[in-house]
Amino acid sequence: MEIKVNALMLRAADYGENDKILTLLAAGRGKLTAGIKGVKKAGARLKFAAQPFCFAEYVLACRGGRYTVIGCSETESFYDLRTDIMKYCAACAAAEAALALTYEGDGADGIFYALVNAFTQMCTGDERRALIAFLLFALDASGYGLSLEKCPFCGKPLSAAGDLRFDMPSGAFACAHCCDGPRAGAGTLNVLRRAAGLPFNEELASPEAEKRALRLFKEYFLYKTDNRFSALSEYIKLL
Ligand SMILES: [Zn+2]
Repeated sequence: MEIKVNALMLRAADYGENDKILTLLAAGRGKLTAGIKGVKKAGARLKFAAQPFCFAEYVLACRGGRYTVIGCSETESFYDLRTDIMKYCAACAAAEAALALTYEGDGADGIFYALVNAFTQMCTGDERRALIAFLLFALDASGYGLSLEKCPFCGKPLSAAGDLRFDMPSGAFACAHCCDGPRAGAGTLNVLRRAAGLPFNEELASPEAEKRALRLFKEYFLYKTDNRFSALSEYIKLL
């Protein structure tokens, strides 16, 4: 049996002398793994299909519950993500989050299309903002959404709360006297509010605050998913 899927190539592992095992995020099907033969040979016909971030229609043969890539028609290579180290690391961090938050057989279409959009934005614009917006969306779509409006303990609006902290169990910013979680600056909150399309203070949403927001994502991911998120750590180190 053959199936066709629109998918992003998010991970490739060597297999045997010339083959690879790809992890694809496919529209309507979620995460799936598929072997691809001979792609390490020079001049292999499907070499492009195993490149990081390749967005394509993959033709998969299914036998005994295993998929093999037998054809591939490229929609977008996202080539610019592979020629700039910052963009590459940001795209790896987004891919790592998508893989951690999706499952086999679970459509996860929201995350799929948000990732296509994030890769597009990263190619042409500010990869850091695209990464922050994607992480915020992907967490929300996975039931780990962040609360950016009111302290969950006393209900006071965060704009009036003074010193802030972040409550890991609920994923909420909170006032310092209600919560003993890690400190969280108003800058971090404003960077996230901008990414969420909420009113924000431009002066506080500085590049330094963007970096702190990414660190907060890393800690929150570890708390919620036990995923160490090494690609995001690499990206933060480069900032
Ligand atoms: Zn409070």
